[in-house]
Amino acid sequence: MLKRARVLLLNAALGPLDYRVDPEHRVEPGSIVLAPLGPRQLAGVVWEPERMPADAEVGDNRLRPLVGVYDLPPLGAPLRRLIEWTAGYYLAPPAAVLRMALASASALDGGRTITEYRLTGHVPPRLTPQRAQALERIGERQGLVRELAMIADVSDAVIRGLVKAGAIEPVEVAVDTPFAPPAPDHAPPALSPAQAEAAAALTAAVKRAAFAPFLLDGVTGSGKTEVYFEAVAEALRQDKQTLVLLPEIALTEPFLKRFTTRFGHAPVAWHSDLRQSQRRRAWRAIASGEAKVVVGARSALFLPYRALGLIVVDEAHETSFKQEEGVPYHARDVAVMRGRFEGCPVVLASATPAIETQHQVALGHYAALGLPDRHGGAQLPDIAVINLLKDPPPRGRWLAPTLVAALAETLAREEQSLLFLNRRGYAPLTLCRTCGHRFQCPNCTAWMVEHRLMARLACHHCGHVMPPPRVCPECSEENSLVACGPGVERIADEVAALFPEARAAIVTSDTLWSPAKAAEFVNRMEAGEIDIVIGTQLVTKGYHFPNLTLVGVVDADLGLSGGDLRAAERSFQQIAQVAGRAGRGEKPGRVLVQTREPEAPVIRALVSGDAASFYAAETEARRSANAPPFGRYAAIIVSSEALDDTVATARLIGRNAPAVDGMAVFGPAPAPLAMLRGRHRQRLLVHARRQLAVQDVIRDWLGALTWPRSVRVTVDVDPYSFL
Ligand code: ADP
Ligand code: ZN
Repeated sequence: MLKRARVLLLNAALGPLDYRVDPEHRVEPGSIVLAPLGPRQLAGVVWEPERMPADAEVGDNRLRPLVGVYDLPPLGAPLRRLIEWTAGYYLAPPAAVLRMALASASALDGGRTITEYRLTGHVPPRLTPQRAQALERIGERQGLVRELAMIADVSDAVIRGLVKAGAIEPVEVAVDTPFAPPAPDHAPPALSPAQAEAAAALTAAVKRAAFAPFLLDGVTGSGKTEVYFEAVAEALRQDKQTLVLLPEIALTEPFLKRFTTRFGHAPVAWHSDLRQSQRRRAWRAIASGEAKVVVGARSALFLPYRALGLIVVDEAHETSFKQEEGVPYHARDVAVMRGRFEGCPVVLASATPAIETQHQVALGHYAALGLPDRHGGAQLPDIAVINLLKDPPPRGRWLAPTLVAALAETLAREEQSLLFLNRRGYAPLTLCRTCGHRFQCPNCTAWMVEHRLMARLACHHCGHVMPPPRVCPECSEENSLVACGPGVERIADEVAALFPEARAAIVTSDTLWSPAKAAEFVNRMEAGEIDIVIGTQLVTKGYHFPNLTLVGVVDADLGLSGGDLRAAERSFQQIAQVAGRAGRGEKPGRVLVQTREPEAPVIRALVSGDAASFYAAETEARRSANAPPFGRYAAIIVSSEALDDTVATARLIGRNAPAVDGMAVFGPAPAPLAMLRGRHRQRLLVHARRQLAVQDVIRDWLGALTWPRSVRVTVDVDPYSFL
């Protein structure tokens, strides 16, 4: 039994520390413990000392004793290896990665119940406006005082006041209520021969219980979900856990529904919108192994599954799997590593797989399973181009006559349409006609975006908002401000003007900000209460609406303007995915793509349906530039509130770049987002050949330098954003 223990504490600024283990405590690697740190106590995890070197060896006689050991299953060795790997690969403090595994600090602390609050129905006389607002917004909801205060947008004190007044009452919620296990044979579908073949390969892999990465590559509507559900069923039979990662929490609700139809009970959901009691219950059930199937956003990846038997990454090409804040990791890639450490199959499902993934297939590392046809004889939609140079919309409008005519026909047939524009709000830029003043965010190198529905201008980077201006702040001219360019709200206005009777809905992260909102949207679509959806990338994926027969892409050129490494690939994926929403039922679908560049390779590939040559050309371009997946990039981002400190630090880093064979360093240069949240930003880009252990080089390089405390230096390995 261990007498001394090395503990990785939940504090990213600290390395591992050693503690004395008194006889009343039993610990092993992975044990979750409470340790003293100065006057405080902090949770942490016991680690193998040889895998987590400490800065200094402390003699036995000077060790402080552990305070306690939590009554929770220890973190398994595969998860500990994953945490080490993630920290090493992404150059992050191990404690920052550990924090994602212990994502629910409250789950650690005993208690089988938690006190939540809900309305009693009693309304006290003489309500203050704040109290009235709280009662109205809380409605049927229940949660901690803090959570209700957030929902109602009032202070905690207002909620407590309402508790005193008898309008809100406490309820004890059991956090250990068991989850009903899904039943593998509840309602299996009859699979087509191609589906059955793919499903057999996956179930065999689940039975083998060994690492095996798969690309499940099937056109939109081919039944990829039904196929990987068979693998889930097999994992259930083996009494193993399954993790399904989705790119967007808005997709959770439709997924839960569909899963319940197939397996009789819902899976356990994990995402940022959970209440604390739900989070605690889910975390504990995951750690105990009782949660058999977990569906979640990327944060579900690091949870302490007791017996993981299968990992599925759905819509695996989605760039939202890349985390940009905190530890910048790519959930798709980490999912594959987790499968390797756990010894289980990993399924990457996509109709438009990333070039990185296709390359792994070409190298023979991943097995590819293909579903070439839509289920039930549904045809892939016809994709046609509207050349905006030849068939332009009228002045001040954004929908070309051909698209408007198609919308009218679709409405007349009582079918549904979807207009796709990847821009939230009303207009991306507001400009003064008199003096040319543009409204910029005071904290960021970005325009303020007009949101007419919320009556304000907002920065999409830092969240800064301002009321819509009436006069120009520069020249004081009245009625001189004009909105430039369209966002979804402006398209919705155009639709309302063209088709006053049509029922339109705007779908963006502003309107679909929770799984419940997403469920409401799906229900309204299915009930036929919406004729025309106007949406951002949020509507491009996953959804299955059989009566949706027309998709219009408002501006296919938008995605290409950014010009980063993956711009063309991303445009292709996005348009192919949104096109895939059309004609999924018995009625055929059609897709109209508005563009000024009908000859661009992306557009030609979409129209001809020849994805293979497009991918081949893109892959060749990457190969000749030695860009990923052939070479590797890492970005070094230097930021601070002081411009001179930022520049000086970036230059210091640049000057000290080591000369390494097969590695080149570009920059420093001001980042395209030269200012973000009030911080100046400079970037360096490291370009290395694949085999080089570039992380080691960067660790030594930056480790030898010092800069002012106010300067932040972050490394983004395999960056997706070049801003
Ligand atoms: P994908 O994920 O490839 O886009 P889905 O799995 O969503 O495709 O399938 C599209 C639609 O077809 C869904 O409504 C699904 O339930 C249905 N479907 C697919 N395969 C079958 C099957 N074998 N039997 C019955 N329905 C199926
Ligand atoms: Zn901003």
